[in-house]
Amino acid sequence: MNFKQDFFEQLSGFYSQVYPTPITQPHWLGWSDDAAKLIGLTQPNDELLMQLSGNIAAPDASYYAQVYSGHQFGGYTPRLGDGRSIIMGEATGPHGAWDVALKGAGPTPYSRQGDGRAVMRSAVREFLISEALAALDVPTSRALAVIGSDLPVWRETQEQAAITVRLAKSHIRFGHFEYFCHSEQGRTEKLTQLVNFTLAQHFPHLSADKAGYVQWFNEVVESTAKMIAHWQSIGFAHGVMNTDNMSILGDSFDFGPFAFIDTFKEDFICNHSDHQGRYAFGQQPGIGLWNLQCLAQALSPVIASDDLVAALNRYQTHLVAHYVELMAQKLGFDYQVSQHQQDLTLIGQLTTLLEANQLDYTQSLRQFGQIDIHSQHSSLRDNMIDVDGFDQWFSRYQQRVGNVADMRQWQAQRNGVNPKYVLRNYLAQEAIIDIEERGDNRKLKQIQSVLAQPFAEHAEFEDFAKRPPEWGQGLIMSCSS
Ligand code: AMP
Ligand code: MG
Ligand code: MG
Repeated sequence: MNFKQDFFEQLSGFYSQVYPTPITQPHWLGWSDDAAKLIGLTQPNDELLMQLSGNIAAPDASYYAQVYSGHQFGGYTPRLGDGRSIIMGEATGPHGAWDVALKGAGPTPYSRQGDGRAVMRSAVREFLISEALAALDVPTSRALAVIGSDLPVWRETQEQAAITVRLAKSHIRFGHFEYFCHSEQGRTEKLTQLVNFTLAQHFPHLSADKAGYVQWFNEVVESTAKMIAHWQSIGFAHGVMNTDNMSILGDSFDFGPFAFIDTFKEDFICNHSDHQGRYAFGQQPGIGLWNLQCLAQALSPVIASDDLVAALNRYQTHLVAHYVELMAQKLGFDYQVSQHQQDLTLIGQLTTLLEANQLDYTQSLRQFGQIDIHSQHSSLRDNMIDVDGFDQWFSRYQQRVGNVADMRQWQAQRNGVNPKYVLRNYLAQEAIIDIEERGDNRKLKQIQSVLAQPFAEHAEFEDFAKRPPEWGQGLIMSCSS
């Protein structure tokens, strides 16, 4: 790995230097060739294993944990920081620079009561979802590897420690700006320094002046809206949209109790600790705005409030535009700005039908690849209990799609945007159980390889597209990861 150390060298005072604590018996549980290519790596090897498990130092790496704060479930925590993640620096390769972070590498000055470790089940889930979202063209941080260990860690019971090797274009979160906004000394200077760094690194087309800052915040609003539009279009619930888990680049980030919806439910909650449903699937668009308001508040010392408000006011338009655009591709009609409101209604009527008929979100959308738009009959219709309701919707939908000259091609296009395979919770769980019980990572590799091509047919792994078995329905994950 070739590292540069821009954050480390330019932002002293924004992190603490800290070295990983070695783990026992490190071994590869997962490796992503696709992520490796991003930073110019080819094969996993023993030396890399020792480096990424924190057992030996890597040349040119600086080891540090960043400081930030954040709103957790609506309440402000003045100091969080990387409690179990240590960044090695920015690895440079053919696809730019990527922070390499060892998540679960041991305690840092921000660990508070925690042990600085990650349990294998959460490390495996983060590894799988990072690469699965990337394959679905959703903006996301990536995962190079997951490293197992025989080191015991205690949660509700004894579990095994593991490390996710995360790659991110940046680890700067909304919470970074909140932390420095609330700091007593040098708040404007610190914020300015952080904004200028962010611009220089990630928004090089913008100038480090008033106009540049305003444009930058507008772009953050838009990329956040776009990320959430993607989530809503694929039925993904993040589960912990605290402001410390929001990337300034609009990348999906910091995965914990996330889930894909199986049977569609607008108010689906995937986080065991989320008693109020604050982060329920249908709440995500609103929470995105709430989080951006926190960010705006934090930026108010350096950007005029009128400009912040004007940008926030555009959030909903961006979100609807991106969501309708994505759904239009999925459903097979032309995207038109002038039609947004009607299209949003049409899409909402479909998800209402899916919910009322207790249908699987991913499977139902996949069935659009079998629809003949000029026929009343379809496998989707066959699954409906409320056939009349569906027929009424379908005729409106037929009108919207209009005439299709080449039905085969239209269907192939639908299959190219509606995944057959997503990371259903029960699949991840099966991989985890095999590792836990037998140290067997074959299932993990199978799931990973299928999800790397989620739009293709994988005859051998047809089962992975199925709805969950009874034990795997409504699996809810805890935050204790
Ligand atoms: P998360 O829910 O993973 O976003 O974590 C929220 C905060 O708790 C972050 O500051 C984490 O670094 C910290 N944290 C979570 N788990 C641990 C742990 N096992 N040890 C130390 N800090 C942790
Ligand atoms: Mg976090
Ligand atoms: Mg975390």
